[in-house]
Amino acid sequence: MINIDGARGEGGGQMLRTSLSLAASLGKPLRIKNIRQGRKKPGLMRQHLASVKAMAEICDAQVNGAFVGSQEIKFIPGNIKAGDYHFAIGTAGSSTLVFQTVLPALLLTGKPSRLILEGGTHNPMAPSFDFIQHSFLPVLEQMGAKFNAKIDRYGFYPAGGGKWTITINPPQNFQKVILENQGILLNSQAKCMASRIPGHVLIREKKQLLKRLNWPEESITLETVESPGPGNIISLQVRYSDITEVVESIGERGISAEQVADKAADELINYQSLGAPVGCYLADQLLLPLSLGAGGSFVTGPLSEHSRTNIAVIRQFMNVEINVVEIDPGRQSRVEVSV
Ligand code: AMP
Repeated sequence: MINIDGARGEGGGQMLRTSLSLAASLGKPLRIKNIRQGRKKPGLMRQHLASVKAMAEICDAQVNGAFVGSQEIKFIPGNIKAGDYHFAIGTAGSSTLVFQTVLPALLLTGKPSRLILEGGTHNPMAPSFDFIQHSFLPVLEQMGAKFNAKIDRYGFYPAGGGKWTITINPPQNFQKVILENQGILLNSQAKCMASRIPGHVLIREKKQLLKRLNWPEESITLETVESPGPGNIISLQVRYSDITEVVESIGERGISAEQVADKAADELINYQSLGAPVGCYLADQLLLPLSLGAGGSFVTGPLSEHSRTNIAVIRQFMNVEINVVEIDPGRQSRVEVSV
């Protein structure tokens, strides 16, 4: 039984998701206590419970403590089954974080799976569908996996109600991932997207992006989409020969269109000034698949608390060497995963 103290590290949902993924992938029983102690409302929220249940369904786990508010669960995994799954969170909770939880185990089956996910597709503090599709999955394809992801309906916080489908074709042999440089900048694109909000918001966001980014006008598109509730997101995508980075900013009540654009621009300028190929959020997502696959190495910015937590949890579960070296202090770190 692996015992995890959820109060350590970043103290949030990441610890729970990483632990569930590893328990299922490695077939190791897990007890996790103090779930989300570092958050204002500790314990499982609906979206975390959705991850627990989804993971349990895929690996036939026996679970104790799976209810909203629970601060401790016991998770005894069985065999992982590839197949067709439908996971609906029932709130605007992030559907991509449920995907993040179940993907590693499904990649180990060697057989295809198809997932339908319902919930939020573009949430604050979570990877968006666009980030998953354009930044995260292409790196996993370098490991030998193949994906086909399609969004059926957008889901914004707080109404949610999004839906997307993904087919997962795992690799037969995992390849190493080496991401040391960005390569040549091939394309820069911005998408200002909204559902059920006044049209001037998108126009102002574009104007502010043009002011901040010095990009040609045609690289910024405005899109109105159908969704059960109102929502607004700016998604900036920079495609290099070796990596694609997606940076996002979500509109909220009380935040001006200009501030939403500034936040996206600031984040992108920071990414480009660091010069590291793997952005901090992508680094968070890659540690687990690399550890369960064939390893590899990547250069990223300063390591986030989420990444540090992931490394600590991975080390508790498996015998893998993860070395982090600051190659340019405060700017770039090199992470090497040797399996
Ligand atoms: P937690 O805060 O513990 O629930 O975890 C949030 C997760 O969402 C982590 O895996 C982060 O790397 C990821 N995340 C948060 N914001 C973004 C973003 N803007 N783009 C991509 N991933 C994100």
